[in-house]
Amino acid sequence: MCGIVGYIGSKPAQPLILEGLKRLEYRGYDSAGIACMDNGKITVVKKAGRVANLEAELAKTGPLKGTIGMAHTRWATHGGVTDANAHPHRDDKAGIAVIHNGIIENYSVLKTYLQDKGHVFKSDTDTEVLAMLIGELYSPSEGVDLEAAVQAALREVTGAYAICVMCEGEPDTMVVARKGAPLIVGIGAGEYVVASDASAIVAHTTQAFPLDDYNVVKITRSGFRTSTTTNANVTPKVMQLEMDLEQIELGRFEHFMQKEIHEQPKAVRDCFRGRLHKEDGKVILGGLSNFAKELVRARRVVLVGQGTALHAAMIGEYMLEDLAKVPACAEYASEFRYRNPIIEDRTVAIAVSQSGETADTLAALHEARDRGALALGVVNVVGSTIARDTDAGVYLRVGPEIGVASTKAFTGQVAVLTLISLFMARRRVMSADQCARWIEQLESIPEKIERILEQDARIRKVTERYVERDNWLFLGRGYNYPTALEGALKLKEISYIHAEGMPAAEMKHGPIALINDGMPAVFIANRGRQYDKVLSNIAEVRARGGHVIAVATEGDDDIRRHVEDVLYVPEIIEPLSPMLTVIPLQLMAYHAAVIRGHDVDKPRNLAKSVTVE
Ligand code: GLU
Repeated sequence: MCGIVGYIGSKPAQPLILEGLKRLEYRGYDSAGIACMDNGKITVVKKAGRVANLEAELAKTGPLKGTIGMAHTRWATHGGVTDANAHPHRDDKAGIAVIHNGIIENYSVLKTYLQDKGHVFKSDTDTEVLAMLIGELYSPSEGVDLEAAVQAALREVTGAYAICVMCEGEPDTMVVARKGAPLIVGIGAGEYVVASDASAIVAHTTQAFPLDDYNVVKITRSGFRTSTTTNANVTPKVMQLEMDLEQIELGRFEHFMQKEIHEQPKAVRDCFRGRLHKEDGKVILGGLSNFAKELVRARRVVLVGQGTALHAAMIGEYMLEDLAKVPACAEYASEFRYRNPIIEDRTVAIAVSQSGETADTLAALHEARDRGALALGVVNVVGSTIARDTDAGVYLRVGPEIGVASTKAFTGQVAVLTLISLFMARRRVMSADQCARWIEQLESIPEKIERILEQDARIRKVTERYVERDNWLFLGRGYNYPTALEGALKLKEISYIHAEGMPAAEMKHGPIALINDGMPAVFIANRGRQYDKVLSNIAEVRARGGHVIAVATEGDDDIRRHVEDVLYVPEIIEPLSPMLTVIPLQLMAYHAAVIRGHDVDKPRNLAKSVTVE
């Protein structure tokens, strides 16, 4: 949530940080702002709305000069979406400017304290409190320079932050810090680019280090120093960013979500590469190899996630029980962390998160680990906080996901959870031959997804028939119950159509009351153990006037007699079917949003990478 980008070097800062800001816009897009330092003076320009609004404003004011600057896209938490609440925020005494991602939880007491000291606030944000506090503590004559003032201020605040700070008294310095929100420092030749994620850095350098919680970095053109908020020295771990520009550009597509849906065959291939060993009937997961014994002996697996990641985790739950014969349960991380969970001996906790920064999921993982669980991560972003805070993990390897509505990360998460299930199963209950048969099925998935994507035009046509309807149902059983939840979530997120997903059998326990003439009900009705039951549920909906769109198995001609529309997916064994059945649902949601004229990649009220609770 929220994008931060900062630059210090010898090039004009404005074009560079604006370009970075556009790459980060998917992280939040309520408002945008920029500050540049020129001749010891900071100029701030900020505007509610998209980065484009900020650019229009800059066209009026003229470009900001300076080779040190910072910019921000906001996802409002405290205070409405107004120009005044947009970042950067300034103090009223010491020439300080701050941009911030996160929430200062004790801002209210701090604000009263600062108001009593005579400070006058111009915004409703928690962030302005931080700017004022740093300004209040900054006192170069008493040896409190910008770095020390930031450290001291951060010792007073509770909550989460990634911040970037500039000060007119130290015009060649930038100070950045983090706790609970991501921040990376990219190291170039005589220049540094600071950003919330690597996508704003890779155009300039591939050498970078992520900040750990409570780290403060003082950056000048000639070097940097990393410390803690209590001023202990820290040695950062510099790493190589593995992302190329093409991965974060639209190419021939109109939207990132569309691009990412179409990338899924490649994403799944990349995810499987080097991990499937059919001849030996083995799945090799380097990240887990040191913990194979613990996984063999595991008594229980708890999977935690939010949103799409939770739906993937639910499929993982079914798979772990089915394949590895280990009791498993998937839960909202936000509920798990606060409900005093019982973690028995030999429990494995798996945190599922695309960004690896999801605040609730991270906290749930800590809770489980502190109670003795082995902590594993299933994340996409390499070097992210969850990836660093776990005992071990498996990366998705699906490439950067920019579209706010998650698509390829979902298939990647399901794919990785399948691999983990097989990794455990093979060591607990499964023979090499059985495992080899699973691998064969897995290897067929990318090509099968390609076949579904070829039906894109037809899926759009079917969507057109129902797109005016404001209420939809998504129903499935067994492995495809979570897929139904995911289909409903996709539609809600980007087309703002109200949709509910549920187990098909649950419908008659209440939601069936919603069905009226022509209401679209999407049934995942691929062939499987509960196929006949699903047909009965379809009949129940149609008897009440609902219109059924079925996602069915290729060759199932008979189903046409029972439904209004059919979208076919290739045959595959049931536990692996969600990786196929979800594709038409993603495409339906995408087309519905496009037809309704919404901004697919920047849906209202949402942002990628939810770093607040
Ligand atoms: N809490 C701050 C605000 O509401 C920062 C939000 C963000 O991360 O964009 O302005």
